[in-house]
Amino acid sequence: MEQTFFNFDKRLLSLDTEIISDLKGQFEKIDSIVQYNQQKVLSAFIKNRVSETHLGISTGYGYDDIGRETLERLWADCMGAEDSLIRHNFVSGTHTLCVALFGLLRPNDKMLCLTGRPYDTLIGVLGIDKHVDGSLADYGVKYRQVDLKEDGLPDEEAIINTLKNDNYKVAYIQRSRGYSLRPSLSIERIERLCKIVKEISPDTIIMVDNCYGEFVEKKEPTEVGADLIAGSLIKNAGGGIAPTGGYIAGRSDLVDKCAFRLTAPGVGREVGATLGHNRELYMGVFAAPHTVGEALKTAVYCAALFSKLGFAVTPSADEDRADIIQSVILGNREGLIAFCKGIQSGAPIDSFVSPEPWAMPGYDDEVIMAAGSFTLGASIELSADAPLREPFAAWMQGGLNFHSGQTGVLLAAQSMLENGLLTL
Ligand SMILES: *Cc1c(COP(=O)(O)O)cnc(C)c1O
Repeated sequence: MEQTFFNFDKRLLSLDTEIISDLKGQFEKIDSIVQYNQQKVLSAFIKNRVSETHLGISTGYGYDDIGRETLERLWADCMGAEDSLIRHNFVSGTHTLCVALFGLLRPNDKMLCLTGRPYDTLIGVLGIDKHVDGSLADYGVKYRQVDLKEDGLPDEEAIINTLKNDNYKVAYIQRSRGYSLRPSLSIERIERLCKIVKEISPDTIIMVDNCYGEFVEKKEPTEVGADLIAGSLIKNAGGGIAPTGGYIAGRSDLVDKCAFRLTAPGVGREVGATLGHNRELYMGVFAAPHTVGEALKTAVYCAALFSKLGFAVTPSADEDRADIIQSVILGNREGLIAFCKGIQSGAPIDSFVSPEPWAMPGYDDEVIMAAGSFTLGASIELSADAPLREPFAAWMQGGLNFHSGQTGVLLAAQSMLENGLLTL
């Protein structure tokens, strides 16, 4: 970077130049995935003959909303699935996963998680730590999990033994690392897990939490054996444009069950006014492959810069990725706080706000979050979160475009430098 509107240290700028040149190969790899997925999405628009009519508004019950119905066929094509629900009525990723699980499971059914302890917000849905009113456990669904191995990967041997010893209605896989330090699961690994499950227990439904994974690789879990996937529209799948929402995609009989849970049994997918959101959802889906590529470049850049600055990062800049999350291990409280403050200072919204650690309900440690996004809580926009505990790691993700993401990452480094928390 030669000219800049920001007051970056000269040594940081020369590191930046070095890194951009080092990352050429990585960026080309990302571009080829973006190109493939963008064509996948564009051809789904063309195949489904999307037109001006589909961008209209429905109200009330939302019967015969051709925009909504076409979008759901289009999204199914994007995910290589038979069918899908993609709606603003899903209030979050957690809600979407909750609808899917309640759609599939009945009292006394057993669910097996193949990837260790699930994402924090699912714990209440499952009701596994303590009694939670209305949780799956409260309805008599039995939950088991196979813990991850020491290296953070699924324990295939233990999974095989567990599946052989009992009947499970649902086998559950979490693709992304979420906010843990385990690696995210590649499509190849998800395919192996699906083969293992289907070989031992062909009737078990394989469901994947696809949050943060959409369009990171050329295939989605539904193209390699998963029966159902679900995710959030304020992460990858909404392209930074969808203002809220979620999706479920997969086998059409299962999607119907989820639709009965989303609205009402016997009513299902035929209702749901779109209130004018169709246009944003179409635009979001259309933008998603590209936006995900920008977030990936931002993550790779962050990995390269901070490892040059002497910090442990995971994944590393040259590793293949399966989600958009980048962790940077900052080693101490001050470093972590300065990092998050730097990210916040480069946000288009609320740049002047200084994030502070706080005791968030439901968490054991204080948490600090940097988020200056157009859509509240959207983590496809550049953001960083961290619990204030060992090893003082920040989880950074998003970036609607690489150049603003790159600036945010440089500001994080600059903030640490100004506070004497890194050496050049
Ligand atoms: C984000 C996320 C969810 C859902 O979280 P919401 O904040 O409710 O959208 C679930 N699982 C994983 C792995 C996630 O990253």
